Amino acid sequence: MLLAVGSELTTGETRDTNSGDLARSLSDAGVEVLWISALPDRLATVAAAIGEALAAADLVVTTGGLGPTPDDLTREAIAEVLEECPAVDPELAGWLRHLFERRRLPFAKTNLKQAWLIPSATAIPNERGTAPGWWVDRPDGRVVVALPGPPPEISPMWRDWVLPRLHERGLGQERITRTYRLAGIGESIVAARLGEGLLRAENPTVATYARADAVDVRISAVAQAGRGPAELVEEAEAAVLAAVGDHVWGRDDETWQAVLGRQFAERGWTAALVEVGTGGSTTRLLGEAAWLLSARTLAADDPTRPLPPLAERVREEAGASIGVAVRAVETGEDTRVDLAVVGPWGISEASQTAFLGGEEGRRRAALAAAALLHRLAKEH
Ligand code: AMP
Ligand code: MG
Repeated sequence: MLLAVGSELTTGETRDTNSGDLARSLSDAGVEVLWISALPDRLATVAAAIGEALAAADLVVTTGGLGPTPDDLTREAIAEVLEECPAVDPELAGWLRHLFERRRLPFAKTNLKQAWLIPSATAIPNERGTAPGWWVDRPDGRVVVALPGPPPEISPMWRDWVLPRLHERGLGQERITRTYRLAGIGESIVAARLGEGLLRAENPTVATYARADAVDVRISAVAQAGRGPAELVEEAEAAVLAAVGDHVWGRDDETWQAVLGRQFAERGWTAALVEVGTGGSTTRLLGEAAWLLSARTLAADDPTRPLPPLAERVREEAGASIGVAVRAVETGEDTRVDLAVVGPWGISEASQTAFLGGEEGRRRAALAAAALLHRLAKEH
């Protein structure tokens, strides 16, 4: 259970990135995160949430609310829930005073709060700040971990101190996860093709995510009933590929850059690109690729001008094996994407409608171009 404490989160001033980062790390370790909450700096609310979380989960991790000011109340809340009394730990107090001396700062008494411990808590050293964390052992084996708010302070504390101890406690189970990245298909159609049976299964889980550059299908499993996670993932994988395999362009955290780079390298291909009315979105998507010999962006012009001659021209000029022309044309609310690729096999043309206009439409035009190149490379 992850609790993010701080009114800056519930007012929307700060985004809760801590919970997401910790959830990712816990999920990778095979721990199921039951829920994530953001809470204001209010003692009663934080205490109630911690109590509820402890009743439901083996591990409760809080972030934030460990500062020296009166509005930082996470320690008080934990102490209240566990009915323990916080007291200044002499060793922590010494460390804290030393930090202030080192920086030649006056030591205000309010800072002593950061040297508090309760009897069941062990301090988690914080090398980048003045708020140590708490590791709290419950008699029933449950654990509460309290971490400060600033992400740069949390990451070494979590990675080097908390995670190893959680692993000693037999944290989670081995989880295997595989992601397929799809193009040219919307998330709702992916979901319909996969079907409720797959999407509602608890192990392996199959879930869809609409990302900026793809619709991702993520398969994840832990061992169950004598079957290992790899076997369970493979089984779901086969079903996923049967349903949407025709739209897969990448796996796990692969990007268009990486996938096209590999395809072009395997074929010894180089390309020259010209894009029209896209604001350079395709060049930005493909990045500084070694196989992309030249990239040129032109302002929108006659939307009916045939593209193959343009593709052929940049191909010749750059001496590339492939010439690519992409054009984005705003059509009311959406964007028409025209594509022409000239290669050793001849000319391939495509035209499709990308959802939305403006910047978003132009961004999607680049994705359409990448998807076409991927398909053509597969075919040749
Ligand atoms: P605190 O320990 O509550 O005093 O938090 C100190 C600072 O850490 C806040 O001012 C935020 O900038 C940052 N912070 C706190 N909680 C989070 C969170 N959940 N995600 C990202 N940053 C946070
Ligand atoms: Mg705070």
